[in-house]
Amino acid sequence: VSDTGTQAASEDEPPPVAGLFADVVGQRRAVSQLRAAARRPVHAYLLHGPPGSGMAAGALAFAAALICPDGGCGRCNHCRRVLAGIHPDLLEVERTGAQLEMDEARAVTARAQRRPLEVERQVLVLHDVHLAERAAPALRKTTEEPPASTVFVLTATDLPPQLATIASRCVRIRFDVVPTAAVEAWLVADGVPPDRAATVAAAARGRLDRAQVLAADHGFLARLERWRTAPTALDGTGAAAAQLAAELLALADEGLEPLRNRQAAELETLAAQAEEAGARGIAGRRQIEDRHRREERRWRADDLRAGLATLAGAERDRLVAHVTTPSATGGPAPSHGDAAEEIRLVRHLGAIDAAAAALDRNVNEGLLMEALLVDLSDLAD
Ligand SMILES: [Zn+2]
Repeated sequence: VSDTGTQAASEDEPPPVAGLFADVVGQRRAVSQLRAAARRPVHAYLLHGPPGSGMAAGALAFAAALICPDGGCGRCNHCRRVLAGIHPDLLEVERTGAQLEMDEARAVTARAQRRPLEVERQVLVLHDVHLAERAAPALRKTTEEPPASTVFVLTATDLPPQLATIASRCVRIRFDVVPTAAVEAWLVADGVPPDRAATVAAAARGRLDRAQVLAADHGFLARLERWRTAPTALDGTGAAAAQLAAELLALADEGLEPLRNRQAAELETLAAQAEEAGARGIAGRRQIEDRHRREERRWRADDLRAGLATLAGAERDRLVAHVTTPSATGGPAPSHGDAAEEIRLVRHLGAIDAAAAALDRNVNEGLLMEALLVDLSDLAD
């Protein structure tokens, strides 16, 4: 999990803190590219990959490696201030609304021309450039010919056409979906008990941000257990299927709570910053709330997917138990009833898979769940 770096620690020196890139999990190739790049940097880098793949942590660690006089020791005053986001030769710009706005792009443009204050170069980190529709032309111009002492580090989860020119001027570093095993090892290293870490990692679907919240959500395992035993509530009637669907959707709502807590904390921090700066309120508050609603929709769908995966796992276990249990007569050939039960369970697995795929298409979740549970209501003989 942790990247211990290339320098061996001498005996009287404390060992490097977990490593500059310790929070960049499961991205061995990207990390080695960034480490190599930090030794002889060009003027612009574009980190691109799926959400939750650790690009924000990667961008900051890379910035530290660019600013640190030792190429990113992870220990010095420069490294620590960059990682904390407070180094004067680091500018980190994050969008506050749905789009990266003109004034946010302008902040970068203005800083690009300035000379570094403490070290030889300054690093401008700009997140989510795939959302720079209106600001793209301004950014394009800025990244064209920056002063030699300025390095751009951009991140994007997508490479839309308006980004093509900017992307072509950058060295591109690809981040991948974090492998489940890497998420699990990261959680264990963070003190999460191994069995819990395995379940959380599977439900995080390669997203470190989701893994972190789920690991702290103590209702999560109980909710999954309800999904696992859900079929026992089905009695073959539509009414039972509808009631169970409503119950499982309510569980997904419960799952939103840790996300909502995190969002509330974000608004509190922004409000405090605004007050400190003498502003009347948070700039772009409505866009932030829009973003929170989008996060909630995605979160809820991911929660339902984790539930469906648990349900599928339970049905698969039943199927395996069925196939491997010797029949009552002791004979090797399965009876007709056994074959029918196998077909039934295999059909269930297909229906659950189809429901999970349908979630990607923005369907009505209530109708989807009800239809699935009716499908699963055919009782064994
Ligand atoms: Zn350092």
